[in-house]
Amino acid sequence: MFCRIIAGALPSRRAYEDDRAVAFADIKPAAPVHLVIAPRQHLASLADLEEEDAELAGHLVWVAAKLGRDLCPGGWRLVANVGEEGGQTVGHLHLHLLGGRQLGTLG
Ligand SMILES: [Zn+2]
Repeated sequence: MFCRIIAGALPSRRAYEDDRAVAFADIKPAAPVHLVIAPRQHLASLADLEEEDAELAGHLVWVAAKLGRDLCPGGWRLVANVGEEGGQTVGHLHLHLLGGRQLGTLG
């Protein structure tokens, strides 16, 4: 499904895009700012990351940092759900950028 959004086949509210990555609004937002950041290249999850993909992964984190400082000056969170137990529901690697409200602490 994400592959189609990324290819532009499905409508999505784009917050950012370049030749390697797209960022768009999550359809079920969990915070006032909730963006999904995904590579155009298909990778199933962070579990599939190889050393050759490390630069792409770094690029995704940079996109998150750029959007986070622009949209969530008070702070933000970056989350990657990996696999079934990790709560991943779409089989295309993506990061969730959350902010715009006070987020709870993680343990
Ligand atoms: Zn995909």
